[in-house]
Amino acid sequence: MTQKVSPEYIQTSLAASLTLGFQQGSFHRNAKLKGLNLLLHYEEGCLGRCHFCGLSRSRREGPKGKTFIRVDWPLYPLEEVIRRAKDKDQIHRVCISMITHPRALKDTLYVIQRFKEETDLSISVLITPTLIHHEGALKAMKKAGADRVGIAIDAATPELFDHLRGRGVGGPHRWDHYWGLVRMAVEVFGKFRVGIHLIVGLGEREKEMVEAIQRGQDIGAHTHLFSFYPEKGSPMEGHPPPLIGEYRRIQLARWIINEAFGSMDEMKFDEKGILVDFGIDIEPLIKMGDPFTTSGCPGRDGKVACNRPYGNERPSGPIRNFPFLPEPEDIEEIKAQLGITCPSSFRACLSADKVGGSSRE
Ligand code: SF4
Repeated sequence: MTQKVSPEYIQTSLAASLTLGFQQGSFHRNAKLKGLNLLLHYEEGCLGRCHFCGLSRSRREGPKGKTFIRVDWPLYPLEEVIRRAKDKDQIHRVCISMITHPRALKDTLYVIQRFKEETDLSISVLITPTLIHHEGALKAMKKAGADRVGIAIDAATPELFDHLRGRGVGGPHRWDHYWGLVRMAVEVFGKFRVGIHLIVGLGEREKEMVEAIQRGQDIGAHTHLFSFYPEKGSPMEGHPPPLIGEYRRIQLARWIINEAFGSMDEMKFDEKGILVDFGIDIEPLIKMGDPFTTSGCPGRDGKVACNRPYGNERPSGPIRNFPFLPEPEDIEEIKAQLGITCPSSFRACLSADKVGGSSRE
């Protein structure tokens, strides 16, 4: 029997599978998917060993039935995915995730090309820096039709990166090489046409996460933020997600830095590295709601297309990355999660006893 592997077959996120009509169902609160997330697939799986990932070789269940960011990734013929994507106006962008596999670079170029030939969707690639050693590979992706790339740095510090993705787990990825690729990608694709993925809750301090966001911004890469979710069967299945208050503070800091309303220099942290002053009035930002929506590559309308509904949490909530603009009642909940205690002056009014948030759920 022929194996169902890339590039003839490709995995889609569960959200993409529902949106393309491969499976029936709708999203909690009628969230609409605007970006198709696709993942290359090989029998051997991903050769990375990242401790927190459902694709990792170190996952207990072996290569079959693996998941990636919380939900299932069903496998479909590439041409059928393309055919269905063509008819969906709500879809603005497609993102092709390479995985760590010797064939991934060649197959990624093929998949980019097929989408470019058949659709008018914008194309992102979530690249695997470990497989890329020269600009030529990035230029080939651009030439094939990709207009943006993402780089999953994931862990905010070199120590955590090495411990969870590199030497600590016998994995192939290296911190300096990843950041080198961020710079190289900015050269090839242009400033802010590159995004870095960072996962909150892998063991970093808030100050270290904000440093990584600022570092990306200084190079020309916005941050696409994720909240750690303990993947069942992964070595970190027992590690808790970040406190909701912590995640909200990092979302606000990311927004302030990436929208150039301020920078880390103006923020203040306590002795535990907790963010206690954002350096600007955060009340209008909270009211607006945008800082708490999913961060990712944009669509035709300039707004985030990669909204990944419920990719980081159960739909029962609380929602970490809002796939739509938060409603007034969501904003009230967000204020409570942030421990806001002095609505007349939001500048530095996070309650000392509530900093850290009140719940991990
Ligand atoms: S933000 Fe979304 S579209 Fe952009 S690289 Fe990351 S996963 Fe892909």
